[in-house]
Amino acid sequence: MKIVRTIAALELLGEAGLVPTMGALHDGHRSLFRAARAENEVVVASLFVNPAQFDVAADLSAYPRDEQQDAEIAEEEAVDVLFAPSVEEMYPAGFATWVDSGDVGAEGAARPGHFRGVATVCVKLFNIVQPRRAYFGQKDAQQAAMLRRLVRDLNLGVQIRVLPTVRDQDGLAVSSRNVLLSEGERKEALALPRALARGVEAYTQGGDPVAATRGALNGLPPDYVELVELDAATVLAAAVHVGPIRLIDNVLLKGNLS
Ligand code: AMP
Repeated sequence: MKIVRTIAALELLGEAGLVPTMGALHDGHRSLFRAARAENEVVVASLFVNPAQFDVAADLSAYPRDEQQDAEIAEEEAVDVLFAPSVEEMYPAGFATWVDSGDVGAEGAARPGHFRGVATVCVKLFNIVQPRRAYFGQKDAQQAAMLRRLVRDLNLGVQIRVLPTVRDQDGLAVSSRNVLLSEGERKEALALPRALARGVEAYTQGGDPVAATRGALNGLPPDYVELVELDAATVLAAAVHVGPIRLIDNVLLKGNLS
């Protein structure tokens, strides 16, 4: 595996699949790497903690980073190129052009500027790597919905592939931020996937999935609980606060995401 830090040094041969990440790699990222490996000649993973998508400075400074371990994981998953640019490489002095992603539901409203930062860095990465396909997780369903729309709206020649959420055995969605939870908070956090499961139950019985989820959060303060349309799918999505950490999760109610 080649580690590349500058745009100029990135030489791509063949049809590429791109997996954008912010590092602190886990099983969710591994599943995206595997899908990319199965479907493309060349697999490029990007490793970039994108300051532009953090709406809270403390979240950016606390974000877990371990490049050496990330490189080992990427290598294990047969990634060909790990693109790990500096902030200056991606946002040089004088940078002033942003991609306005438009409205993205409650997640966008809860995090002002977040999706603009995601949209801008993804368009940059698509232009730098020129992938045939790019891989994202259902865990960030609103992000995936925004990116599918962006690619349609701006006629970008990349296919957005969305892979199912990977969970720990107890049901908590794997996330880089989970390492910041104490043991007690980790247990409290389980109320989120459990509440979403209550929402699915209510939905299948003809009830209100949003109300059922809200009612089962076990005291975790929600930012929102909402339904998100993702092309041919509807997902039930929620964001909650657990101690100092904000966690998001969602489950499929109908349709499929591929
Ligand atoms: P991040 O490094 O957190 O920005 O995530 C990079 C990509 O991995 C995004 O497309 C996420 O949606 C995806 N991802 C994060 N957690 C999971 C998970 N538990 N299962 C599947 N994909 C995930």
